[in-house]
Amino acid sequence: MSIKAEIVAIGSELLLGQIIDTNSAWIANKLSDVGINLYHKSVVGDNQHRMFSTLDTAFQRSDIVITSGGIGPTKDDITREVVAEVVGRQLVRDQELLNDIEKRFRSRGLIMSANNEKQADIPQGSIPVFNPNGTAPSFIVEEEGKVIISLPGVPSELKWLFENEILPYLVKKFDLSEIIISRVLKVSRMGESMVDDKIGFLIEESQNPTIGLLAHPGQVDVRITAKAKNNEQALNLINPVEEKIRKILGDYIFATDDQNISDTIQDVFKEKGQTIGVYEDITSGLISQELQISSANSFIGSVVLGKNNQTNDINSQFSHQLSSEKSNDPVDFTKRAARFVMEFFGTDISLAVHGVIKDSNKVDNLGNGTTFFVVTDGENIVSDQYNIAGFGLSDRKRLTIYALDTLRRFLLKS
Ligand code: ATP
Ligand code: MG
Repeated sequence: MSIKAEIVAIGSELLLGQIIDTNSAWIANKLSDVGINLYHKSVVGDNQHRMFSTLDTAFQRSDIVITSGGIGPTKDDITREVVAEVVGRQLVRDQELLNDIEKRFRSRGLIMSANNEKQADIPQGSIPVFNPNGTAPSFIVEEEGKVIISLPGVPSELKWLFENEILPYLVKKFDLSEIIISRVLKVSRMGESMVDDKIGFLIEESQNPTIGLLAHPGQVDVRITAKAKNNEQALNLINPVEEKIRKILGDYIFATDDQNISDTIQDVFKEKGQTIGVYEDITSGLISQELQISSANSFIGSVVLGKNNQTNDINSQFSHQLSSEKSNDPVDFTKRAARFVMEFFGTDISLAVHGVIKDSNKVDNLGNGTTFFVVTDGENIVSDQYNIAGFGLSDRKRLTIYALDTLRRFLLKS
């Protein structure tokens, strides 16, 4: 039997965009770890009718409904009332919860106000769950083999209760023995549709493990997810599929799981130990920043120029050298820039990234133009170009990943 769960995040401030519903994403992740299917997620304000209708629908179609928020002491905290209504029960005051809340107030030298007593009210026959991190206790209502679990909205309280009380309860109650394990392969220099083109047939036929794609600027994640009784079985399902995908995508895969491009670069630099100088304009220093953080021992210095590749005094030597040559060809410019920083900083290798923006249309993403990449050690050279050039943050991030990936391929070759 597959168990269906649903999350309902409660709070008008979530609908107003004043806070972001991070609780649901966090819970969703935890549920998938233990193999509980999450089919719906909703957000509803502190309104009795709408909350009732959302919770009622959720409870009809799901085995587990988890609510977040609205169980505090104030007038707008009405989750407990509405949950009681959904299961057709009275709210009753739980003496133990009341004592616990009272004790918490006393220990802080405070006197409990009447509205705080309300927090000890739970639907008749439900299971009280003590909340050692706050005053609002949690509760679980069991009804016809299904459950509604109400958690506080404060993320730290919710997380503690979920991990320490709710998860163990769910594992026991629903006899959860399956786990879910994922492997993520990170791909650069290929858009989502191209990746889909190449491994789409695998995605289509995938059941266990399933294969999914997720695109970020400059990067596509291929996620292979298996359900199994234990880690070993899950890996046995994942490994052959991973192998097939690696065979197809090969060198386009630059990192695995939690690794990012900078981690990969860091590893390669640690192994090879070269020093590097950087020239960049379109990426506004992002590449230097990444190298400075991930590979401080290798990164010696960089020249970062602005929008029009105009130079200032510090860079005048550079400007002189570059402009003294006649060619306006951007590939040439990038090669000369690479050569210049290598000589200027006295490094083993260099990376140069030069963007030529085609029109002045200001777009934040996928700007019109071409960006040129060169990595060289003076002898060998790897160069690349992409038809994207823009100062928007997602373009700069995308081009930074492309640049570091060009560097990765150079280092692995040399
Ligand atoms: P309290 O006793 O603090 O009133 P509560 O259960 O009534 O607890 P809410 O009043 O709904 O919870 O939310 C308390 C705080 O928790 C909010 O101000 C907000 O900062 C945070 N919060 C609530 N819901 C979420 C959510 N879905 N995701 C992230 N943070 C949330
Ligand atoms: Mg509240």
